[in-house]
Amino acid sequence: MRFILGILLVVASSALFAQKIAITLDDLPFGYSRGLSDDQKIEAFDEILQSLEKHQVKATLFVTSGNMNKATEAILDKAVAAGHQLGNHTNNHYDLNEISAEAYIADIDSCQELAGKWINSSYFRYAMLHRGNTRSKRDSVYTYLKEKGFVIAPVTIDNNEWVYNRGYCLAMKIGDQKNMDRLGKEYLYHMKEVTARYQKLSSQVTSREIPQILLLHSNPINAKYLGKLLDWYKKEGWEFITLDEALQDEFYSVKDDYVGPYGFSQLDRIKRSKLNN
Ligand SMILES: [Zn+2]
Repeated sequence: MRFILGILLVVASSALFAQKIAITLDDLPFGYSRGLSDDQKIEAFDEILQSLEKHQVKATLFVTSGNMNKATEAILDKAVAAGHQLGNHTNNHYDLNEISAEAYIADIDSCQELAGKWINSSYFRYAMLHRGNTRSKRDSVYTYLKEKGFVIAPVTIDNNEWVYNRGYCLAMKIGDQKNMDRLGKEYLYHMKEVTARYQKLSSQVTSREIPQILLLHSNPINAKYLGKLLDWYKKEGWEFITLDEALQDEFYSVKDDYVGPYGFSQLDRIKRSKLNN
């Protein structure tokens, strides 16, 4: 009896304390792919949508309007029709470390003008997560976003998915299936590793496990491996939530005072803000 009670307690507490994760994908309609045709991009994105659908994930997807053309607008139509949230990820994906706040703000506006038809949320995500390498630059863009009613979409599980995607695309271009398979496996292993790393950092910074926000991209490696990645999270007991739900956690209201050139996880930003104070 005691044994059964014990099992029940474990099951109940794991349901109660399930780790939560919001899924976000950047660079829509489609990111780095090394020469896929528009039709191939649309097909690849369909696979991403199917993986999200299989796990009933409502994701937040960020549009880089400079990646759009008449044909790939179909990807944005499909994303909206599937019930996902779309946000602004600038027009040209400029690095705020490299340009002025004024030029960056103009690029945010361009994205809104060109992709406003599909953007159905107030979320904004910085390209490369770079929020300004000087205080004045950072504050100018912050103030602008606030005035315009944008909500910054942070990331907690930062990772090198894009590096694996680059190798994967290179292998794909030359039809090297063996290396594509190897890179896919290594990608999944990497994601498991970084997830554990940010769970640990969450405990260090907040003394608990916050709802995490995962950064991925609309790209070929996820066309093939997003489903497997979501299968793994599910198997490990993670619960998929929306970005809206994640941001309700008080962690995301903690003052972020980091100024610098790096595109850190929000956990790293807060850790560094605390060290500075
Ligand atoms: Zn991006």
